[in-house]
Amino acid sequence: MSKPFRVLLYYKYTNIEDPVAFSQEHLANCKRIGIKGRILVGKEGINGTVSGTVEQTEAYKDYVHSLPGFEDLWFKEDEEDIMAFKKIFVRPREEIVSLDLEEDINPLETTGEYLDPKAFKEALLDDDTIVLDTRNDYEYDLGHFRGAVRPDIRNFRELPQWVIDNKEKFMEKRVVVYCTGGIRCEKFSGWLVREGFKDVGQLHGGIATYGKDPEIQGELWDGKMYVFDERIAVDINHKDPIIVGKDWFDGTPCERYVNCGNPECNEQILASEENEAKYVRGCSPECRRHPRNRYVAENNLSTEEWELRLSEIGESLTDIETA
Ligand SMILES: [Zn+2]
Repeated sequence: MSKPFRVLLYYKYTNIEDPVAFSQEHLANCKRIGIKGRILVGKEGINGTVSGTVEQTEAYKDYVHSLPGFEDLWFKEDEEDIMAFKKIFVRPREEIVSLDLEEDINPLETTGEYLDPKAFKEALLDDDTIVLDTRNDYEYDLGHFRGAVRPDIRNFRELPQWVIDNKEKFMEKRVVVYCTGGIRCEKFSGWLVREGFKDVGQLHGGIATYGKDPEIQGELWDGKMYVFDERIAVDINHKDPIIVGKDWFDGTPCERYVNCGNPECNEQILASEENEAKYVRGCSPECRRHPRNRYVAENNLSTEEWELRLSEIGESLTDIETA
């Protein structure tokens, strides 16, 4: 049975003269249509995820395709039971995906070879190919391609430096990169080409497209794909799915993300409901006894109840910080 809502993931690198004026007009049209989501607009193009009813997403696609230069924009679509966003943001930005290169790269001029899901799967199975995940660490930890390299970085912006530091490891190999919807790799693979890597490929349309290929069906993807909307995690492997996420507290298989209860920390951690309660959603002893712990506030725990819970894990509200 078809589902009532759609999520559209898309981008296009194309010249936009006046991102501010473009954003204003785009926002007005999103409101007219009733679509929700997050859209970034820059001189280099557009990058967005939106959600709406089937009618709204169809109207939005028609609108975007009617804009000069956007006739061929490729929308990746998911059917959903819920609206993935509550609000609509259309924001002008310097970059539509942050790579912060000293010298920017135009993927319309320089980019890696596009691989379709079938060619990408072959690359995954090829010993002479390095497959590099270009996403953030918490995205990788929820799910990734089997055997893909996880760069030791917190954020995509740190990736170029990480590659430079580790260049000897794969300079002579074929390098294939992937990301959620393909946009990060357009630029990043172009940067790899400019850095002198000889054979650079990218998963066209990203993981989102790979998971929908009727033949591949997401094979060799382990775990779930992290998405930046209320769904948080989506299925990719429809053949032999496994869980790779691990509970922050006990390391058991887990795909449930929560933000640390300490508002000053806010670290994203995987935790079962049981462990979230046991550890009052705190990622560390400090976060568990933080005076503004959100789990404690949301659940109206009295100081006695809070203290009791901490005592059960060998901690206390009055523990002194040891340096
Ligand atoms: Zn924390």
